Amino acid sequence: MDVEKLTKALQWRGFTVERFATAAEAADWMDQAIDGVSVGFGGCLTAEQMGLYPRLSAHNRCFWHWQGDSRDDASRSDVYITSVNALAETGELINIDGTGNRVGATLWGPKEVYFVVGRNKVAPDFDAALWRARNVAAPKNAQRLKRKTPCAVRGDRCYDCKSPERICRGLVVLWEKPTAFEKMTVVLIDEDLGL
Ligand code: SF4
Repeated sequence: MDVEKLTKALQWRGFTVERFATAAEAADWMDQAIDGVSVGFGGCLTAEQMGLYPRLSAHNRCFWHWQGDSRDDASRSDVYITSVNALAETGELINIDGTGNRVGATLWGPKEVYFVVGRNKVAPDFDAALWRARNVAAPKNAQRLKRKTPCAVRGDRCYDCKSPERICRGLVVLWEKPTAFEKMTVVLIDEDLGL
C-alpha cells in the first residue's frame, strides 16, 4: 500500500484523512474527537474490534443495531461510524449492503461520517477495490452471518447468487465527499481489521 498516494487521493476528493499505526491509537483519537453528540454505527466489525461503542457511549448518545438500538436513530445521528468493504489507492470508497442502512447513511442523514479502515481493505485501483468488495469482503461477511449462499459455502468468490439470503443488494461508490456532509474523515489504520 502506498499510503502517501492514498492520502493525497482522498484529500483531493474532499475527504479528511487521519493516519494511525494501531487500532488502539485510532480509538484513543476518536474518543477525544467525538464528544457530546449523537453517534450512529453501521454494521461494522472494525468498529467492534476497536471497542468504539463502549468508549464513545461514556460521553455520547450512541445508537447501534448490534446493541439493540434502531437503525433509524443511527442514521439520524450527528456522527456516523462505519468502515468500507474496499478502498482504492486512487481514493474511491466502496461499500456493498443488504439492508441499506449502512450505505444510506453515507449518502444522506448525519452531519459527519468517520470511515475506520484497516490496511487489508486497500486495493491498488478502483477495479481491484470493486473486485475485493464483491469477491473477498462480501463472501466473508456472508460466512460471518451464516447465510445460505454459494459464497458462504465455498468461501472463494462471489457467485452473483439469486439466494433469498443474498447480502449484496446495493453498491455505493463515493467518488468524492457528498456536499450534504460537513465532513467525512477516513481513519487509516496500519493493521488488518474487519473483513
Ligand atoms: S451476491 Fe450472493 S454469492 Fe455474491 S457475495 Fe453476495 S451473497 Fe455471496
